[in-house]
Amino acid sequence: MASINDSYPVAIVGGGMAGASLALALAKRGVACVVFEAFALSEQSQPSFDDRTVALSKASLNILANLDLLEDLARVSEAIKTIHVSEQGHIGFARLSAEENAVKQLGAVVENWQLGKVLHQAFAKQAELIDYVVPAKVLELEQSQDSAELTVEAHGKIVKVNAQLVVLADGARSPLRKKLHIDSEKRDFEASAVVCNLSTQLPHRNQAFERFTNDGPLALLPLSRQRMALVWSKPRHQAEQYVTMPEDQFAKDLEEAFGARLGRITKVGKRQSFPLVQSRAETLVRGRCVLVGNAAQSLHPIAGQGFNLGLRDISVLSELLAGAEDYGDFHVLNQYQELRQSDREQTLCVTESLARLFSNDWAPLSLTRNLLLKTMDIVPSAKSIFAQQAMGFGFKNSELAANDE
Ligand SMILES: Cc1cc2nc3c(=O)[nH]c(=O)nc-3n(C[C@H](O)[C@H](O)[C@H](O)COP(=O)(O)OP(=O)(O)OC[C@H]3O[C@@H](n4cnc5c(N)ncnc54)[C@H](O)[C@@H]3O)c2cc1C
Repeated sequence: MASINDSYPVAIVGGGMAGASLALALAKRGVACVVFEAFALSEQSQPSFDDRTVALSKASLNILANLDLLEDLARVSEAIKTIHVSEQGHIGFARLSAEENAVKQLGAVVENWQLGKVLHQAFAKQAELIDYVVPAKVLELEQSQDSAELTVEAHGKIVKVNAQLVVLADGARSPLRKKLHIDSEKRDFEASAVVCNLSTQLPHRNQAFERFTNDGPLALLPLSRQRMALVWSKPRHQAEQYVTMPEDQFAKDLEEAFGARLGRITKVGKRQSFPLVQSRAETLVRGRCVLVGNAAQSLHPIAGQGFNLGLRDISVLSELLAGAEDYGDFHVLNQYQELRQSDREQTLCVTESLARLFSNDWAPLSLTRNLLLKTMDIVPSAKSIFAQQAMGFGFKNSELAANDE
């Protein structure tokens, strides 16, 4: 466990997916930081690195490759080579393939706890630049013109730590964001995601499936050891029932909603549910503090974009900080806010629209969706736009694609 200095150039609150990735991105550029994380990775309760899975877009894989994590990640993740989008009860579907887009893979899927292990192993190689303090809970945050001061409960003691810049990577609830009086706009989808890993009769052949069902969208993502990761959106009042119902009933309902593309569901792992709420902080900057990851925005997982968007926050912020003299400089932080604006707005807007469009059983909407899917499979330009989005390159970020093989 790292000892704690009195002051640091950058202090990161939260060592989850976003905070840990940022620490590595800063270290790669020679910027030293401290990471305070409330829970040790080995504890079941570390909230960011639990049993869930995350689908990493091609753009995210490029960012992680720049952090030298790709080799380790390849050992524990599964490539997505095809994405199949369909709607229950309709014949229209769209199919994206890596081959058509001239890339090796469209993305990859990894269990959150495996990603946590990869990130923490990389910390060990950057021990000179990253002080990882755990368990350490940041209790208070105050700032003056020249620095910010954190009050931290660590190693059973209360300590004060100064930093030029404080990054809040403390998740969607972010109590510290509230202490900075940054409001967060919330949209409650009144649904929950039922998640679990499962096995199927037929091999997944690196296909990811997005299926729009009568109750809400479901995603089945290819996982290592021929498993699939399920994220199934259900009206909130039904979700708990789907977590607790007998395994054979759950498998039967899922087979009915998903169809027979993978044969029978042969095994269902531990089920959990997560409420689906989208949130968006009104600003990313307050004084010497910035927000990244879920502290800045959290998304409906329909398009698997939450962490992918967070990684793009991190990529931009670390690049700006690399050239800065004072890491908490107002102009640098404002530039971060400006550069993140359009990607944030666009991703939030597209994700929310998809969530609403595909969670509604109204017949004319269903027809529109079906037409959309058919068009997407037939019109090359529509498909190419969809592919760029799915790979995390957005409408304007296609220069990132140049990093590919
Ligand atoms: C069902 C589901 C499926 C998803 N699927 C995908 C997907 O396929 N692709 C994708 O890109 N995204 C996906 N996401 C989103 C993704 O999980 C989140 O974007 C990601 O976990 C956010 O990481 P974070 O580090 O910002 O926040 P968190 O994961 O919430 O981590 C915050 C960390 O801060 C720590 N912390 C909090 N307060 C303090 C404090 N005061 N002091 C010290 N430490 C503190 C916590 O212990 C925690 O470790 C999904 C989300 C859900 C719910």
